[in-house]
Amino acid sequence: MKKSIERISPRPAQPGMVGDGFRVFNMIPGGGISQRRMSPFLLLDFNAEFDFGPSDHIRGVDVHPHKGFETVTIAYKGRVAHHDSSGNHGVINPGDVQWMTAGAGILHKEYHEETFSKVGGPFEMVQLWVNLPAKDKSTPAHYQAITADQMGKVVLPKDAGIVNVIAGKFENTVGPASTYTPVNLFDIKLEQGHQTAFAVPGNHNTALLVVNGEVEVNGQVASEHSFVLFANDGEEISIKAHEKAVMLLLSGEPIDEPIVSYGPFVMNTQEEIYAAFEDFQAGKFGTLE
Ligand code: MN
Repeated sequence: MKKSIERISPRPAQPGMVGDGFRVFNMIPGGGISQRRMSPFLLLDFNAEFDFGPSDHIRGVDVHPHKGFETVTIAYKGRVAHHDSSGNHGVINPGDVQWMTAGAGILHKEYHEETFSKVGGPFEMVQLWVNLPAKDKSTPAHYQAITADQMGKVVLPKDAGIVNVIAGKFENTVGPASTYTPVNLFDIKLEQGHQTAFAVPGNHNTALLVVNGEVEVNGQVASEHSFVLFANDGEEISIKAHEKAVMLLLSGEPIDEPIVSYGPFVMNTQEEIYAAFEDFQAGKFGTLE
């Protein structure tokens, strides 16, 4: 059965800045789609293509904590560098995904990679926050640096396009990201005039971000930069590209637990939020210059 569409949210009128390096349209929860409604997805910030211009000053967001969930950074254009309090450092290149499990707590900073910053050019990214079930919120912080060549790749018939399976399973291809609860995350590239179809479990909270191009989703037009929220009824999603299109499909089994969030801390109770804040202030997340 075809999934019905609950709503199609256009891109918000104004972007917000995360630090000075990420010019983002907040689709969850700012688009009126609550964290509960989209569980396990807590936040989706979409840096639609934007040229920051060449700069000697490296733009980004300085040292900040995360605890109790995962941050997933998907790079389409431009390069993001990061450093964290576990001593990890890396660069997320176009086509790469960084899946960071903040778990028990981490400090990190995220910024434009130095050479990219100097030269400038188009920058296009998504950051998605995925909640952890209560039993895994205190798992030690770690991350999966997934490069473009490691993605599960499905070449669609008739040169219709490519699906990069980041997490979960499409047809018989499994994505490289390991997740704590069932999640599908697909980077979909579809050529103009072509179509494809997906099936995801009916109980999953499911949405489609239209990164580039106009598409038709289960019979409704979704314009560039819009966010399509599906009802939790059927399983089938069919997509037709009116133009060459790039989309991010996310589906996840809801985590049926209370969500108490305070900025970069997402726990199950207010007491745990206070404790997280105290741990952070006591330096228990480590140190990072
Ligand atoms: Mn962060």
